[in-house]
Amino acid sequence: MRITCPLCGERDRREFYYRGAVLEAPEEGAPLEVWHAHVHLRLNPAGPLEEWWYHQHGCGSWIRVQRDTSNHEMLAAAPAATGEAG
Ligand SMILES: [Zn+2]
Repeated sequence: MRITCPLCGERDRREFYYRGAVLEAPEEGAPLEVWHAHVHLRLNPAGPLEEWWYHQHGCGSWIRVQRDTSNHEMLAAAPAATGEAG
């Protein structure tokens, strides 16, 4: 699998550390069940998913990647600081 770092270009997946899906945290004071689902339950979609990746053996940047999990196609990537993949 190849990942396109916005700063370094296309690189092998082994240069990166996978953090997981980009998730919105529940609001403060949300019910315990909502926090339980946020912390412990994950969807496993076959299709587009926005994820966090860290270019550990490259530029050291966190990036947001949109990846199709059914075929590993990279749909978009952006530095985490911008907050938007595109
Ligand atoms: Zn990089």
